[in-house]
Amino acid sequence: MNRFYIELPHGTVAKKVKLEDLQAATRQIFRPYQVDFADTFWWSAYSIGQRLADHFSKANRVFLTGDACHTHSPKAGQGMNVSLQDGYNIGWKIASILKGQTGPELLKTYVIERQRIAEILINWDKVWAKQMASMGKDAGGVLDADGNIDFSEIFVKAEAFTAGLTVIYDDSSITRAKGSSQQLATNLIVGMRFPSIQVVRFCDAFPMQLVRALPSDGRWRIVIFAGDIRQDAASRKLNQVSYASDQLAYVLIYQLGEYLFSDGGLIQKHLPPGSDIDSFIEVIVVLFGERLKIDQEQIPQCFWPVTGKWQMRGRANPDYLLSLLTTRLDLHKIYIDDESYHGGHGHAYDFYGVHPEKGTIAIIRPDNCK
Ligand SMILES: Cc1cc2nc3c(=O)[nH]c(=O)nc-3n(C[C@H](O)[C@H](O)[C@H](O)COP(=O)(O)OP(=O)(O)OC[C@H]3O[C@@H](n4cnc5c(N)ncnc54)[C@H](O)[C@@H]3O)c2cc1C
Repeated sequence: MNRFYIELPHGTVAKKVKLEDLQAATRQIFRPYQVDFADTFWWSAYSIGQRLADHFSKANRVFLTGDACHTHSPKAGQGMNVSLQDGYNIGWKIASILKGQTGPELLKTYVIERQRIAEILINWDKVWAKQMASMGKDAGGVLDADGNIDFSEIFVKAEAFTAGLTVIYDDSSITRAKGSSQQLATNLIVGMRFPSIQVVRFCDAFPMQLVRALPSDGRWRIVIFAGDIRQDAASRKLNQVSYASDQLAYVLIYQLGEYLFSDGGLIQKHLPPGSDIDSFIEVIVVLFGERLKIDQEQIPQCFWPVTGKWQMRGRANPDYLLSLLTTRLDLHKIYIDDESYHGGHGHAYDFYGVHPEKGTIAIIRPDNCK
């Protein structure tokens, strides 16, 4: 089975196109090879147009997503991808409001975020469609060494955009580049999707992509890059507060950890009554160093809280296997940037541009998860 996209001569009226026209055009394109059609399962003809809705929302109550607010050429697999991202964006926000976690003003960020992406999409598609139809570099095409249009180069450039990996959201009530210390994680761009790299799960040495620790379940995540807690200074971040001025950064990170879980802290403040401590905001710790030289007990218990169906810590005990099957272990909140037994080393701190002695904290939105 094959799928053909066939560009018809300029001025063709889509409604007047017949299947025989498409088959004849295909035969023409493939000449001198011969093409026979045993069957045509589906076909359609439409005019390519780059169109953008004037408004993505009416009174913050009615919202447009996907093709309803942006249409373009079907040539780079971007339509469904961008449409799904629109849908996910508005979806988690509506869910959050319905669960009583926030007010309807959150919905304004949908328009702030997605309307600009749609504009970028349409502008990009104009260039892309022109390159696809062009015969040479002068007409906007990219040529390879043999003087042919180099679509592989164009496709590679398009891939990251299509996957939503180049999107940077502007500041709003849920994105704060201006208040962030970007230099503490040089490759973790505020407003962009949280990229994933391999880390080692601390409790069982399992090598895995960090994004797997962030399932798409509507929760916010605070990822603490706590550094190398074998080092004296770094361990103070997690265990003992020191107020020496040169260790201010460590103290601040430590204090944040303590504050997060305290009675008046951020997590308790937003926690629905009677729910697990990690049910709205989950804290994930990514350490740096050698897993075997760090003891679980060195990591304060607030970072591996009692939670889950059986309200247990899930420590290694005779019921360990059973608990693996029946509950989401709290020990799964701690990871380390270390060599794994069989899966190599992810070098996560390098990847994110985080200095192991300084550490940093990243706040991950619900739509940045797996
Ligand atoms: C030929 C072609 C190939 C494509 N190839 C790709 C590709 O490879 N990769 C990619 O990412 N994208 C591709 N696209 C684009 C992609 O299909 C669209 O961007 C995507 O489907 C848009 O999703 P949507 O949910 O916004 O709209 P749609 O998928 O169009 O969904 C809208 C739905 O609403 C229904 N509807 C309409 N009016 C009403 C009504 N009044 N009441 C109830 N229901 C209604 C429609 O029947 C439809 O089911 C392609 C598009 C075309 C035309």
